[in-house]
Amino acid sequence: MDCIFCKIIKGDIPSGKVYENEKVYAFKDINPQAPVHILVVPKLHIDSCDMISAENSSYVSAIFEAIPAIAKEAGLSEGYRVITNCGAHGCQSVKHLHFHILGGKQLSEKMD
Ligand code: AMP
Ligand code: ZN
Repeated sequence: MDCIFCKIIKGDIPSGKVYENEKVYAFKDINPQAPVHILVVPKLHIDSCDMISAENSSYVSAIFEAIPAIAKEAGLSEGYRVITNCGAHGCQSVKHLHFHILGGKQLSEKMD
């Protein structure tokens, strides 16, 4: 499958890895939108938030279990935002489920 994040997980494309475990891979966003901008992805290909199911949700819970450690390592003691874009209206550009961790500054109150 021609998926850029699957290739990053396999190591076929280089990335700035910040965390990895059996189910989760996290790396620096190539086009950061905040001083800290990390992408957290499941090691299983899931198209988007809209494809989460009872069969694959252990990868999603593993992501959220890892996020506090990833945020701590990144120095986000003052807080951060976790976002996933889904589908066309959500402006999802990479069709492999991913959660953005944004922080390192006071973020805007606006979410759209
Ligand atoms: P989204 O628009 O929510 O699908 O987010 C996709 C994100 O992936 C964007 O923030 C891109 O900057 C980021 N991105 C795309 N290709 C790479 C890459 N090779 N390494 C790191 N981040 C990437
Ligand atoms: Zn993929």
